[in-house]
Amino acid sequence: MSLSQHHAASLSAETVVVAAGRPPRERDEPVNPPIVLSSTYFGTGALDDGDRGYGRYSNPTWDPFEEALGQLEGAALPGLLYASGLAAVSSALSLIPAGGALVMPTHSYSGSLVMASELAEKGFFELRLVDIADTDAVIAQLAPADGNPAAMLWLESPTNPMLGIADIRALTQAAHDAGAVVVTDNTFSTPLVQQPLSLGSDVVLHSVTKYLAGHSDVVLGALVTSNQELRDTLLHHRTIHGGIAGPFEAWLALRGLRTLALRIERSQASAAVLAERLASHPRVEGIRYPGLATDPGHDRAKSQMSGFGSILCIQVAPVGGLSGADAADKLVRALQLWLPATSLGGVESLIERRRRHTAEPVSVPDNLVRLSVGIENVEDLWSDLQQALDALDS
Ligand SMILES: *Cc1c(COP(=O)(O)O)cnc(C)c1O
Repeated sequence: MSLSQHHAASLSAETVVVAAGRPPRERDEPVNPPIVLSSTYFGTGALDDGDRGYGRYSNPTWDPFEEALGQLEGAALPGLLYASGLAAVSSALSLIPAGGALVMPTHSYSGSLVMASELAEKGFFELRLVDIADTDAVIAQLAPADGNPAAMLWLESPTNPMLGIADIRALTQAAHDAGAVVVTDNTFSTPLVQQPLSLGSDVVLHSVTKYLAGHSDVVLGALVTSNQELRDTLLHHRTIHGGIAGPFEAWLALRGLRTLALRIERSQASAAVLAERLASHPRVEGIRYPGLATDPGHDRAKSQMSGFGSILCIQVAPVGGLSGADAADKLVRALQLWLPATSLGGVESLIERRRRHTAEPVSVPDNLVRLSVGIENVEDLWSDLQQALDALDS
């Protein structure tokens, strides 16, 4: 491939997203990798690990994205692409031995929570939910005085949708002391804003569906690790459980990745402006954005992230006869530019009252609205929010 791990390490991430995962620099090679549509490969004799073998074992279209993502996360090995973020979650959870304990944030992504709860209910492992921002409480669950030390610590920081910030360095240290593997869901930050492996995590997880692919047109997931043994186990799980990516989706994800740095730069700058303005609007009774100096996670975020991401959450105040939740629904309906839809991390700005999902934990306030800031002009985004907020009074 075009960029060695060594060369990538000397380049900035804005360059790596563009330069990584290209075909060899040889005359008449295409500058972009082709899409390979084949379910099988020619072969005779014994099949070994280096052979492509069959379309569920490997596909050349996955390789450039896996290589680029590994380089961006600062990993020693290429990433692993999956059919969805949740297929990657499933593979990561398979690392917990039977009867082991999983420590997980109460406000993890709802799909990860549902999967972990269902597996725990069936007796595969023990689930301990914690407030991930409360370092002492997490450490107590990792190594309880009278019981089972945790086999896995799951981190999400910032959390979805509450934007709680975990002290990743302190928690990975405590988890390793307890003998646990640490998986960090880095979907909200991307490797351009936060690099969990350098903060001590063993495995990084992405819903590639979000920022990495960036155009709300594919569903994909990924895992990244520098540990060869863990990668072999995860790859075996992917092959045998079959959560593989389609070649066209993999190709689209690499195409989307090329503009990641520009998209992040714009959306983060806009999120910071919108957070300041929303914080002082009378119809907004609460706001979480780690970039606000007043946010409880601000200092911690600053110590482990190079920016603050472009997701923010507001709580809409009750108004007239409307409850906060009804006012939030009215706000979302009154918008003309922001798209009312679930998901995040695309070029277009999305907004959603989270509790419209019945799976969302009731500890998420019912008037909480999550905003995923896209790359549109920030004044256009603000005007639309302002007219919809102002219309709540009428
Ligand atoms: C969306 C999301 C997932 C799940 O990914 P899918 O691609 O939808 O399967 C996992 N974690 C976080 C933080 C997410 O936002």
